[in-house]
Amino acid sequence: MVELKTDSSIDAMYAAGQVVGRALTAVRRAAAVGVSLRELDEVARQVLADAGADSPFLGYRPSFATAPFPAVLCTSVNDAIVHGVPDGYRLRDGDLLSADCGAVLDGWAGDSAISFVVGEPRPEDVRLIETAERALAAGIEAARVGNRIGDIAHAVGTVCRAAGYGVPQDFGGHGVGRRMHEDPPVPNEGRPGRGMRLRHGMVLAIEPMLVGGGTDGYHEAGDGWTLLTDDGSRAAHAEHTVAITDRGPRILTARQQPDPALAPTAPAAGV
Ligand code: MG
Ligand code: MG
Repeated sequence: MVELKTDSSIDAMYAAGQVVGRALTAVRRAAAVGVSLRELDEVARQVLADAGADSPFLGYRPSFATAPFPAVLCTSVNDAIVHGVPDGYRLRDGDLLSADCGAVLDGWAGDSAISFVVGEPRPEDVRLIETAERALAAGIEAARVGNRIGDIAHAVGTVCRAAGYGVPQDFGGHGVGRRMHEDPPVPNEGRPGRGMRLRHGMVLAIEPMLVGGGTDGYHEAGDGWTLLTDDGSRAAHAEHTVAITDRGPRILTARQQPDPALAPTAPAAGV
């Protein structure tokens, strides 16, 4: 069932989304060669704690997971697509990191992710990340009253495929509300004009996941969480929580711009 949110609830969800935005900005500032993934998780924990927010990631255990998630941040490095578990790994020059964070504030959830390169980026990684951001922007542009879920999915998938990237099936966006994962699912590929009609008050997480090598296959790492590309190529992931309103899409997890700490490798960050 899809719950339509009131305007005041959407405002409350914006407040939760802003905590997520601040956490991701802080993580990005802290991410540098030699910094460990667990240290980045600590950075995000501090932002959530300062805001009085809870983490919907910490202790999360969906049906596919063998153990509760142990962190407030997913850190997916290089060939990891999503759901990477922060551990003692120290970032190296040129690593492509996807950071995914959630927050629950006053009972409302927000969910967002960014991808960026630590240190000196490879041109192919810059292109991959730029495409992820463009796919996200296209999905948000399609998140309009009167459109359908398939229009969002089609917009996202078209950008990814046109650039030659793989799109892992089975994972994608979702409704957001009092819980982080609600109905409806928002696939990263689909047919326009199909699926549920979008209405004022729906809140969706839109989250393209791109495989640089162009194949769709993925598998789970031994930790029971991390999803890795089958072809060993790098992956990128971008996500915003977006409210569908009569006045157009409202990005609830928008990050404050400009952020002088942001490297020039994320041209579309904070759309
Ligand atoms: Mg997320
Ligand atoms: Mg999500």
